[in-house]
Amino acid sequence: MMTSPGRALFNSALVFLLALHLFFLSGPVRTDAADNAGSAAGSQSGAISTATLRIGKHVNYLRLVLETPEDYVQRASVSLAGANTVKIDFQSPVSFRVPQKDAPKLLVKVEAVVSKSVVYEMDKGLGITVFMNGCIINIDNLDDINVSKLSSPSRLVIDAYMKQTTSAGSENFSAEEPLTSPDASDIKMQSFVIDAGHGGYDSGVRFRKTVEKDLALSFAKEFSSELLKREKKVTLTRKADQTLSVKDRARIVNMKSPDLLISIHVSSREEFVVYSFYKPHIRTSGENGANSEKSAGVDRSEAVAQAIARSAGNALKISVGTEKLPLLLLTSVHVPAVLIELPSPDKFSYNGKSRERLITIILQGIAYSSTSQVGA
Ligand SMILES: [Zn+2]
Repeated sequence: MMTSPGRALFNSALVFLLALHLFFLSGPVRTDAADNAGSAAGSQSGAISTATLRIGKHVNYLRLVLETPEDYVQRASVSLAGANTVKIDFQSPVSFRVPQKDAPKLLVKVEAVVSKSVVYEMDKGLGITVFMNGCIINIDNLDDINVSKLSSPSRLVIDAYMKQTTSAGSENFSAEEPLTSPDASDIKMQSFVIDAGHGGYDSGVRFRKTVEKDLALSFAKEFSSELLKREKKVTLTRKADQTLSVKDRARIVNMKSPDLLISIHVSSREEFVVYSFYKPHIRTSGENGANSEKSAGVDRSEAVAQAIARSAGNALKISVGTEKLPLLLLTSVHVPAVLIELPSPDKFSYNGKSRERLITIILQGIAYSSTSQVGA
């Protein structure tokens, strides 16, 4: 695009100088041949300004800050140049100072960048290739960028937003369905009892690295804290590893009389199943808090079960289903109730991100079941 013989020659000379220079450096990373403090006009006579790159890591984006003279910042053009690639062109010769990943291999890597246009890895999934007037930055999972030009000190700020994670276990989730966590106001139900299945002498299903009672409890606690964040009333049937009969659980539920009971279990299969059971004389929560006997047709428990399964079906790649089953807990309580069997941890990753997404799926289902109730 911009290759003239003269420029190529200049490039080669620059590359040679850089390589030589770097070879004798032992301090911080420098890919600059000369630290020119004078004119930054960018003439080909060798006045080269330096751009110092700093990287800030945020939850779902990287902030790249390039500190360089004012006129460079003003002239700079930043563009997405293909998958995972940001191209920064300062329109004038520039050299870079970039973060180092690990010091011992530093010189080799930087030299490789300038002499062979090989990507220098600054961090995991983050590489830079420098060229005459700028650089190309490769960012794994790059989705979009936002660029701003700021002064004192003059700098170019590029926020690089990443796609939804592709870390281990995400193969269980559909990438194309972004999950948005419902707000407090999206969830019409105000009070919940969360039941962690099993406990104490009753371990439930045994997995390779854990048992059902432990996974159910930790998940129930995380789920409860998400409801608490949304200022809902939450009761856990058990907060520790204790034996609790179904009768005891049902007693807690009926005493609290929540808008919804969610019982958490974990199956030995790679599937997500929501159980409910039709109860002919179930209480439904009215807007004014008054209890009204349910009328024929819509069963709240089943509506919630189906809404959660729909949300799960959209977001999970594993098998998702609902089932009506007269499970003892479901038939012993007087409030809408669902029992969720989460997928086996031997077949489904329970890393932080996956757990968060499972919680969001359930919250979405609850929120959806509220809106679908409107007008009923
Ligand atoms: Zn169980």
